[in-house]
Amino acid sequence: MSHLLFAEGFRTTPWWWEAAEPASRPAELPDHAAVAVVGGGYAGLSAALTLARLGHRPVVLDAERIGWGASSRNGGMVSGGLKVTSGGLARAHGTDRAAAIARDSAASFPFIEELIAREGIDCDYLRCGRFAAAWTPAHYRAQAARAAFIERATGLPVSMLPRERQREALGSDHYHGGMLAAATGSLHPGKYARGLAGAAAKAGATLVDTTRVEGIARDGEGFALKTSRGVLRTDAVLVTTNGYSLDAVGGSAMPWLARRLIPVGSYIIATEELPAEMIDRLFPGRRMISDTKRVLNYFRPSPDGKRVLWGGRASFGPTTPERAAPVLHGFMTAVFPELATTRITHAWTGNVAFTFDILPHIGTQDGIHYAAGCQGSGVAMASWLGHRAALRIAGAENEPFALADLPFPTAPGYRGRPWFLPLVGGWYRLRDRVDRMAA
Ligand SMILES: Cc1cc2nc3c(=O)[nH]c(=O)nc-3n(C[C@H](O)[C@H](O)[C@H](O)COP(=O)(O)OP(=O)(O)OC[C@H]3O[C@@H](n4cnc5c(N)ncnc54)[C@H](O)[C@@H]3O)c2cc1C
Repeated sequence: MSHLLFAEGFRTTPWWWEAAEPASRPAELPDHAAVAVVGGGYAGLSAALTLARLGHRPVVLDAERIGWGASSRNGGMVSGGLKVTSGGLARAHGTDRAAAIARDSAASFPFIEELIAREGIDCDYLRCGRFAAAWTPAHYRAQAARAAFIERATGLPVSMLPRERQREALGSDHYHGGMLAAATGSLHPGKYARGLAGAAAKAGATLVDTTRVEGIARDGEGFALKTSRGVLRTDAVLVTTNGYSLDAVGGSAMPWLARRLIPVGSYIIATEELPAEMIDRLFPGRRMISDTKRVLNYFRPSPDGKRVLWGGRASFGPTTPERAAPVLHGFMTAVFPELATTRITHAWTGNVAFTFDILPHIGTQDGIHYAAGCQGSGVAMASWLGHRAALRIAGAENEPFALADLPFPTAPGYRGRPWFLPLVGGWYRLRDRVDRMAA
């Protein structure tokens, strides 16, 4: 019975918040900012850090607390990959542009490694590598065909592990082998958000929480931001609201952006503490793990090596962490049957933002800058997009950026509320099942 799965003291806040809950910042709202950054996640904070270093004194506003969104809720897997395949990119953008997009995306990985080291951010960062487990033999073959491309893009080794050697990377026979990629790290997302906020503040950024931006209007040469705490005038504005671009009643700082982003809830559970030898058996090498299902699972040991953190799309419709938890527990025990009686201490959710072309974007619309759309893979990418957007705002770019100013598609009639997700999700789940049956 599912209630037996919940440990005493079960919480629906991120396990990460036990060590690094987003702080409350009772800062005053200033009247004027050189640059206003709307959204205090990795993208906004990284932009603020770069802007402050370039002498622009940014003000970061968050409707909740700084770092409250996906940035303190995610799986902490750090990679620079794109979700779209190299073939798909080339068909949409031509070979040269596709190569530039792949190169400029992969650059997010060395960027975040350098950022963490340079700023001395204490966030349990480790370059541990990733095992991407193949759901079917056909997925394994497709991975093998992409291995050389990923190696070229990341400059780090990739190797294929056939099913008979799978247990070198994962304590389970559930998959059909998989790919080991060195260009992946792990971190504690809450500590990273907190450290990035600290670095931005130290560099001169003002961080203001519980201030929702309700609209952005032209005001002379600059902009006036209507907020829940008054008006802020600014010379330039960057919107980084990502998967939270639309609020519960349909309000948005930038409706144009909300119409181009598809918010999708992702869910994670944390198990109770487990013996170290069990963690070593389940995660030999302590790598990050994801699988190749359309409705993917991603899982890892906690940075302290005591728990399993298991993430996935438990639901494509409205649900709660309490209802999602048994579903994720079921996914987990399908892979690790020995965790059948392991209880859950935390279950939580957060929004990621997909785009209609499956690419991240930075650009400018009606004079307003934006950076968003990491397809659930934004620890490195959102940090990188924020930095790149900041360079543009400061006029300090010294090379072109292939993810900037791409056409940013929406769909007819789409206003930012993805009513179609349960249908698409159901279809993806069915295709996962059919693929496996045919394997
Ligand atoms: C459960 C989960 C697991 C994930 N796992 C991984 C992973 O393992 N690896 C990986 O690379 N990526 C992962 N991601 C994705 C990654 O967390 C995000 O891509 C990244 O954090 C996005 O950062 P951001 O700054 O763009 O947005 P966010 O961190 O979501 O910040 C947006 C902020 O905007 C604020 N906001 C919204 N509207 C307004 C407004 N009108 N006024 C003021 N503020 C506003 C929100 O309060 C929020 O704090 C995961 C995400 C989730 C939710």
